[in-house]
Amino acid sequence: MRFDIATLFPKMCEAVLSESIIGRARTAGFLEVNCWNIRDYTLDKHRRVDDSPYGGGRGMVMQADPIFRCYQAICADGEMAEKPHCIYLSPKGKVLTQQRARELVQQPRLFLLCGHYEGVDERVLNEIIDEEISIGDYVLTGGELPALVLVDTIARMLPGVLPEKCCFEEESHYSGLLEYPQYTRPAVWHGQEVPEVLLTGHHKNIADWRFAQSLDMTKQHRPDLYLDYLNKK
Ligand code: SAM
Repeated sequence: MRFDIATLFPKMCEAVLSESIIGRARTAGFLEVNCWNIRDYTLDKHRRVDDSPYGGGRGMVMQADPIFRCYQAICADGEMAEKPHCIYLSPKGKVLTQQRARELVQQPRLFLLCGHYEGVDERVLNEIIDEEISIGDYVLTGGELPALVLVDTIARMLPGVLPEKCCFEEESHYSGLLEYPQYTRPAVWHGQEVPEVLLTGHHKNIADWRFAQSLDMTKQHRPDLYLDYLNKK
């Protein structure tokens, strides 16, 4: 799968995407991520990419043309024939869920647009964007962190990135429930004992206990998800 991130801060994205599991997966070729500097596509001699908003008000708005030219360069780059599915990271978008990430992992190619300042001229969104995605009901200074969140969420479900499918299928949100509690050595820590069933080696009993804990944890922490889960059964 290929990701192309259009941003004013490509180094910020590269720094994160070169580390840890995603960095290793990129090196191994399980995914391709390219970070593009929108500023390289302005025709302005001072490399400006923003201007003040029509109608007045504070702040600056990212101009349509450098973004459009960057998008065109990305579409023309490489040998992939298909147009990328285009996402604008925005607090006005639909909030990202594991379910949406599971659908997006089917796409061969994603273009991610990171806004800054007051946002982006609406006309370029109308022209190139297929959907807007938010990472939560709050506002950040730029779309880079949301784009990194989206790449990470999707990439860990790509074949080869994690050792086995169960590494992501048995985690919180995949089935609609939150994960059961986890424990590791020592068996007693600060007077707290690991639940006895986990020490028995009895796989069926352990699986039953984990499922019951999962239900209970979801009911306590996220009653909204718990109700959804019951309604879907
Ligand atoms: N003026 C915009 C508004 O009120 O909706 C907010 C602009 S925000 C300061 C700058 C950029 O950060 C946005 O264009 C978007 O790309 C990104 N951004 C901020 N919060 C976000 C969120 N919750 N999810 C996704 N992207 C976000």
